[in-house]
Amino acid sequence: MSLEKLGFGLVADLFRFNWIRRRAFVTVVALLIAASIVAPAIAAETVAIVAAHLIDGKSDQARHDLAVLIEGDRIVAIGDVEIIPADTRVIDLGSATILPGLIDTHVHPLIREDDYQTDHLRESSAAKALRGLKAVQDSLHAGWTSLRIVGDTDVFYAPVEIRRAIDRGLFVGPRLAVAPHYLSITGGGGDINFFSPEQHLIADGLIVDGADEVRRAVREEIKYGGDWIKLLVTGAFMSAGDNPKDVHFSPEELEVAVAEATRLGVPVMAHAHSAEGIKQAVRAGVRSIEHGTFLDAEGVRLMVEHGTYLVPTIYIGDFYIYERPDAEAQQKMVELSMKYRDEFLANIGAAIRAGVKVAVGSDFGGYDPLINAREFASLVEAGMTPMQAIQAGTSVAAELLEWDDRVGTIEAGKLADIIAVSGDPLEDLSELERVIFVMKDGAVVKAP
Ligand SMILES: [Zn+2]
Repeated sequence: MSLEKLGFGLVADLFRFNWIRRRAFVTVVALLIAASIVAPAIAAETVAIVAAHLIDGKSDQARHDLAVLIEGDRIVAIGDVEIIPADTRVIDLGSATILPGLIDTHVHPLIREDDYQTDHLRESSAAKALRGLKAVQDSLHAGWTSLRIVGDTDVFYAPVEIRRAIDRGLFVGPRLAVAPHYLSITGGGGDINFFSPEQHLIADGLIVDGADEVRRAVREEIKYGGDWIKLLVTGAFMSAGDNPKDVHFSPEELEVAVAEATRLGVPVMAHAHSAEGIKQAVRAGVRSIEHGTFLDAEGVRLMVEHGTYLVPTIYIGDFYIYERPDAEAQQKMVELSMKYRDEFLANIGAAIRAGVKVAVGSDFGGYDPLINAREFASLVEAGMTPMQAIQAGTSVAAELLEWDDRVGTIEAGKLADIIAVSGDPLEDLSELERVIFVMKDGAVVKAP
């Protein structure tokens, strides 16, 4: 007895239709499986980069006339040009110097103006996300293949969304590690201290007082995708109404912040200028000290002992002194940078000589990302060799971010984040302001 005779014609039609669909489905699945077997062989194209000079981010000397072989997103070999297999696509950069992609461990890409403390009130989170995306893409084109965003001017989580969009492949952009906000005490560097008490504005920082609020804020930052926790442990140079020589968080608040973040597997960075604030943060177990202006001998000793990284962000002070001395919202920054410049450089010099691990961080946001590379020359002024400065912005920065298993050096097994400059950066570090070639994850982003 047929299905039609039972009055199930429609069901039979559906069954036949489904049978055809099922056959189509099986065919598609078979094709997909076949494609997934064949695809890696097609996708993992071998590319060779050839250049006269190579700074690998690790060795003390530049190496010469080498080829870097890349398969897919990874570096597979470095050697003489003879290692290049036949039919390999060769990117010949001639007399250029190739280096690992640069890593800036202290950026604020959502900032667009000098008066960042109220700028965040003018734009929606969506607008900030779009502008921030453009800013990090511009940084990538300037040679910065990885960035750590260290709290930014969005009440919501735009930097996290930018990172997710890039990670999902929706946009080309640098590799991002994100602290969504800076945690600040009431009246601290993340608060807005210059309005009348009648105003209850949302601050650019996350204002937390007492151990419970600190703990909750740490949990929320991590809940919404933060990779890092940023604490404003002391007052700041750029914010109005607070003193960088004051310690803001209590030892108890610091301890809770670090303990909670550590328990959840997230590292902590501490913005700290005052000597005492630096020491309290190091003792509490933060992974990096940002700025470190008034670092003293005991602080240096503690940082070496604890293996704490230092991100001094030197050049931005000079930028405001020499390039923007009239910036209305940054008069405190200009004044303090001038007053403490020599002391700051001497303290960073002492840290470098003692073996504190120092990483490149520009602290810029809202300006042409080409100037971020001026931090390299500032580190040399503080006491590094040019090669040490380059390592501070490549291998050491990668270690700070715990990404040294994948980036920071040009070595077999690492992701192919490679840049090139036409001159010799060891002779003239400003070459790093004129990057001519950028590759991230084996994909060419910028070519001469
Ligand atoms: Zn900063």
